[in-house]
Amino acid sequence: ATPMSIMAGTGRAAHMGILIRDAAALEAFESIDTLVFDKTGTLTEGRPKLTDVKSSGDISEDRLLSLAASIEALSEHPIAMAIVAGAKERGAAILAVTDFDSPTGKGVVGKVEGVIVALGNTALVGEDATLLELARPLRDQGQTVVYVTIDGKPAGVISVADPVKPSTQAALKALHARDIRIVMLTGDNEATAKAVAKTLGIDEIRADVLPNQKADVIEDLIRRGRKVAMAGDGVNDAPALAAATVGIAMGNGTDIAMESAGITLIKGDLGGIAKAHALSRLVMRNIK
Ligand code: ADP
Ligand code: MG
Repeated sequence: ATPMSIMAGTGRAAHMGILIRDAAALEAFESIDTLVFDKTGTLTEGRPKLTDVKSSGDISEDRLLSLAASIEALSEHPIAMAIVAGAKERGAAILAVTDFDSPTGKGVVGKVEGVIVALGNTALVGEDATLLELARPLRDQGQTVVYVTIDGKPAGVISVADPVKPSTQAALKALHARDIRIVMLTGDNEATAKAVAKTLGIDEIRADVLPNQKADVIEDLIRRGRKVAMAGDGVNDAPALAAATVGIAMGNGTDIAMESAGITLIKGDLGGIAKAHALSRLVMRNIK
């Protein structure tokens, strides 16, 4: 009954939106004890959204957002896109800007209605105790904070965050129930990673991982005797997917990730992982 039950198994999986490449992938998946998730785009939506606007007091929050979004409308940085989209959703006016500049790695500056507005990190606006204090609780929640000054004076902070996918929490719970250890891999700093990991009950984090180091993390876990599945969506996840015992790609991710994976989740729905694991066990039990 071997090939028959494997075919039946992969057929049932396909109906659930889970593509299993071959019998070897199904068999290998049954044996895994560790699931490594790339954070951005896999556990999270992969696109930041505006979360908070806090004024230091001299200006209304609506006005602050309007001035900030007017400048950001000229930038293509993901932070800028989040601020502009959020501002439009909240009905803030996008105003005309002159003298726009975007110093690399620091932020953006421009002139709006006669005032100079600067937004970015401390390398751009300097360190100001009031702004740092406004930012702290937001940072503690894992948000990315942008500092805003108007005519060189501290005006407020705006934060963005990459939201966790609606399917993530339940999917991780289902994997934990199957005794699978969850590891989160990210290029983000430790503080942001910890905040996300805490809300999701993740067992282990590998933060500050450069794109070309992702596969090394997988190889290290395998060397230490773990049977590792890796879930990721991006171009730079492909080597890690290939290095894993089983690679899991998001169907809405990149083609190269899918080519490197033994399993593809068609809709990027993480709930498919625990279902596929249950199915692999069922099929392999019938065979043995
Ligand atoms: P990264 O890919 O890490 O964002 P960048 O060099 O693009 O690298 O940006 C580095 C930092 O500069 C950002 O983390 C942010 O603090 C600031 N920054 C860059 N562009 C903007 C922008 N349009 N608005 C606000 N801050 C920005
Ligand atoms: Mg990613």
